[in-house]
Amino acid sequence: MRLYDTMSRSIKPLHAEDGQRYRIYCCGPTVYGPAHIGNFRTFLVNDILRRVLEVAGLNPYYVRNITDVDDKTIHQSREAGISLEAFTTQWTESFHADCKTLNMISPDVEPKATAHIPEQISIIEKLISKGHAYEGADGSVYYKVDSFPQYGRLSRLDQRELRTQKATSGGSTNLADDYDRASVADFALWKSHKPEDGENGWASPWGRGRPGWHLECSAMSMKYLGETFDLHSGGEDLCFPHHENEIAQSEAATGKTFAHHWFHTVHLLVEGKKMSKSLGNFYILRDLQDEGWSPAVVRYALISAHYRQQLNFTKNGLRSAQSALHKIEKSIGRLLEITDRDTEDFEKMPIDFQALAIGQLYTAWAALEEDLNVPEATGAMFSRLHEIDRMELSKEKAETLLLELNTFFYALGINLFTEKTDTTEAPLSVKDLAEKRWKAKSEKDWAKADELRSQIEAEGWAVKDSREGYDLQKL
Ligand SMILES: [Zn+2]
Repeated sequence: MRLYDTMSRSIKPLHAEDGQRYRIYCCGPTVYGPAHIGNFRTFLVNDILRRVLEVAGLNPYYVRNITDVDDKTIHQSREAGISLEAFTTQWTESFHADCKTLNMISPDVEPKATAHIPEQISIIEKLISKGHAYEGADGSVYYKVDSFPQYGRLSRLDQRELRTQKATSGGSTNLADDYDRASVADFALWKSHKPEDGENGWASPWGRGRPGWHLECSAMSMKYLGETFDLHSGGEDLCFPHHENEIAQSEAATGKTFAHHWFHTVHLLVEGKKMSKSLGNFYILRDLQDEGWSPAVVRYALISAHYRQQLNFTKNGLRSAQSALHKIEKSIGRLLEITDRDTEDFEKMPIDFQALAIGQLYTAWAALEEDLNVPEATGAMFSRLHEIDRMELSKEKAETLLLELNTFFYALGINLFTEKTDTTEAPLSVKDLAEKRWKAKSEKDWAKADELRSQIEAEGWAVKDSREGYDLQKL
């Protein structure tokens, strides 16, 4: 398995440094509202990475945090008149529900920032004692960027930019005016309590306050994955300053390389434009479901572009995703028929990496292993399906193909045969054909069943089998 690394600007092979588990940290959501589809693009790409590593036998160990304290969460919980904990718990649950709907595997550990205050304080103490941090007159503690010469290496930030950049720690953009700091590029590790923080704050050696946003990821990743781990990921917007600051804090505190590999997902556009509330193209999962798109279609559309390319998310893209899924289900439906199985059997098939790595879908799998190239992988899968659709297949061959396809779609996290049946009633002529087909099928007259299926499709309907019977779905 190989993947592009932002730090070295090259595609590098992946291997678990400890020889046991491939350790990943992904920056998770800030829980103050529903996550939008741009957030989910990043999390879905990470979910596919995790799945591909699992299928490839690299034994991933995946940590993704929850940011449950920052300016936004504090401000909005106070506006809502509820505690920070109650407020963030509600949005964490909503995030989890969306992840489940999109068929994402839960992280192995999902730590919350507020549950790791002592760990964050201990890193600050280390940084102060090593001369990398200082206390401002207001009781806030800042990271001394000048003390870490490698600063800016990940994002290739030149020094001029560094001197003029505005601090964005914790979502607050005017820290440079409000706080006493030695240099404008220095960022807050600990923020002293302000009146607008209300009851939210923790005791520390520097007085009451709360940790800076960047620090939580250093503390939680190192706690669960060790001082050096295999891969750190997030959306491309986090590269600077967030990941740059994480590196500076962690490496200055430990003297060790923080992460061996940096993995960033490019953001998406919606109908060719940047997503924004004012343009009315700010989608959350609920909006798309309300428009009738199934989660499998949304997932397929969101993963359709390569993670290093901008995805243009459009209604046309959703329609293409839907028709792609229909085509796949049709091909698999035929294989199930040949092997005398139904869709429920398909879901229960084992994950068989060996079958995939040396089988008919080898090129599709190889594309996933080479920089997680989903469009190339699905392209290869479709050309193979196209050939298979036209081949006479033995039961054994169809069986092997089903195993491969099931493993391939597990790696992509696409659950097939989940779309709800269209409620439109099929006309009597189509129902009649479907009845005849079911009869042919139960008499094991496959040729006749196949032919009737084609006739039904020519009428614009798809037939989907289950154990008890069949469903007719409008194409
Ligand atoms: Zn982070």
